[in-house]
Amino acid sequence: MTKILVIEDEESVRENLLDLLEAEDFETITAANGKIGISLAISTVPDLILCDMMMPEIDGYSVLTALRQEPLTATIPFIFLTAKSAKADFRQGMDMGADDYLTKPFTRAELLSAIMNRLERQATLKKYLCNQTAMKTLSPKMQLLEMNLHRVVQQQKFQEFEVYYQPIVNIASGKIIAAESLLRWQSPELGAVSPTEFIPLAESTGLIIPIDQWVLKNVCEQIKAWQNIGVFSLRIAVNISVIEFNHPDFIRKILEFLKVNKLEPKYLELELTESMIMQNANGAIATMNELQKMGVRIAIDDFGTGYSSLIYLKNLPINTLKIDRYFIHNVAQDSQKSAITKALIEMAHNLQMQVIAEGVETEAELNFLRQNNCDAMQGFLFSRPLPAAELENFLWNNNRLPA
Ligand SMILES: [Mg+2]
Repeated sequence: MTKILVIEDEESVRENLLDLLEAEDFETITAANGKIGISLAISTVPDLILCDMMMPEIDGYSVLTALRQEPLTATIPFIFLTAKSAKADFRQGMDMGADDYLTKPFTRAELLSAIMNRLERQATLKKYLCNQTAMKTLSPKMQLLEMNLHRVVQQQKFQEFEVYYQPIVNIASGKIIAAESLLRWQSPELGAVSPTEFIPLAESTGLIIPIDQWVLKNVCEQIKAWQNIGVFSLRIAVNISVIEFNHPDFIRKILEFLKVNKLEPKYLELELTESMIMQNANGAIATMNELQKMGVRIAIDDFGTGYSSLIYLKNLPINTLKIDRYFIHNVAQDSQKSAITKALIEMAHNLQMQVIAEGVETEAELNFLRQNNCDAMQGFLFSRPLPAAELENFLWNNNRLPA
């Protein structure tokens, strides 16, 4: 049964809402003020929250802010209830990450349509994450993993994580031009845990938000540290999860990390996937535009495996296209893959995007990419992902791709 939490200080409105919701077979929980609302949201984790904007003491904005900071409640659909007031009020609510608003008095149809709309979207998101994790029920091993991941985040033991960097090389010059940051977890209890195991788990539990923010902060500090010792000015790419990307605090956090480290935004590139953008296209485009206005670069990761066409992406602010390793593997021998890869490189260039081939492992693959004017490559042929200190050494030694 779908559980809805109603946070509303006016008793008559609250009663009216309960009657409507219960008639539709929703399970309801009510809170008469913001403080009770926050604690009920955390203890019961409802499927959706309806919250009055104007309440004494803790208002709707503060409730929303508090819930978005809590991993357990960060992604619960949130609908504001507002009195007929200034447009600026609900604009502020939406900017803070509310999913929708209803102006009081609303009709039964308006209420139900807003609720069903949000629930459907949430179900799509969950399905998307579930497909990604491919874990319907948690095995004992995954339960242990989840427990440990919670502990790391709650006790802020982020030193168990380490950011590795895989160099990205310009194919024509052979020079390292960028690196992709990749998260590794060395747990004292579990040993090395593969990112393919813990990242989906972090996404489905909301723990990915503090983890992603730690990675972003760490990477920005590292770029600056390298610039300060005069080693090099490299662009570093960071993989962003769909939840982090949709988090209302996302842009503000990035601005903060750039500012604290006095970092030019062009040194940071965010890797998004097609499906992340498709999942909430309008919101994604707005966020991407804002990022690009700031000067932060945007890459589309694993391109070719999703559903969208390059034509669809042509109106989006994208700097870099990363061709998925599937197409690169054996590209020189496989006529279908070589036709697709050639077309992707050409179209991306027409759209003024830089093209990076992922997962390059053989000379034959590299030669094919060189012949077809692919800009850059990443893969074991040149280097595996390296700890920061090793990448630094790698650069001091002037390691290059042979021409
Ligand atoms: Mg990536």
